[in-house]
Amino acid sequence: MEDPRAALGEAFAAVADTLRHHRALGLTEVARNRPEPPDASVALAAQERALQGCTLCKLCQSRKTVVFGSGNPKAKLVVIGEGPGEEEDKQGKPFVGRAGQLLTKMLAAVKFDRDRDCYICNVVKCHPERNRNPEPDEVAACNPFLLAQLDALQPAVILALGNFAAQTLLGTRDGITKLRGRAYLYRDIVLVPTFHPAFLLRNPGDQYKRMAWDDLKLARREWERLTTGTT
Ligand code: URA
Repeated sequence: MEDPRAALGEAFAAVADTLRHHRALGLTEVARNRPEPPDASVALAAQERALQGCTLCKLCQSRKTVVFGSGNPKAKLVVIGEGPGEEEDKQGKPFVGRAGQLLTKMLAAVKFDRDRDCYICNVVKCHPERNRNPEPDEVAACNPFLLAQLDALQPAVILALGNFAAQTLLGTRDGITKLRGRAYLYRDIVLVPTFHPAFLLRNPGDQYKRMAWDDLKLARREWERLTTGTT
């Protein structure tokens, strides 16, 4: 058996080594308590400030506002769309136009209040002119900001609206019709893909409405399971 005095000596030597290494890095104090993780609202406010005036992609040339996100920073449901439309660009808030009004109703149908229960944001934070699709370089430029938002929010469930949100987060080129109808694990977050409300406005048939309704109920069940421990 190992000599306990020798083992203790080795352990102290290792601690001394670590402290010397920390001093060499310029750290002069040992934190006795881990600092609390920053409040999500503080982290989000700092991220939003940092994004003002962003010029990392060409969307900055035509946008009026950087539409960062809105809702409850403590919400365990994060709703992610594609990119701000014209109205969102004017108001600086996501999902405030026609698609937004439908989204509010869709969420309410499964008893989510958009301001109380959700945080809502987009894959790209700036309006693509004439509502064109965001291009791959624009999605790539904005991706770190979406990831930072999710790190701050730590949601239990993501509702991904449409191709861009689902494909960006799941790293696939499969379309929303194929992806929807089930839950995925994105990191440690349950991700439920569904149709974008703008698609539902363009395709008002019962067929898509019914599928969206199933997806919303799935998101609600997952949210309840993960936030209250019930199914
Ligand atoms: N469509 C989106 O994807 N996001 C918005 O914020 C508004 C419309």
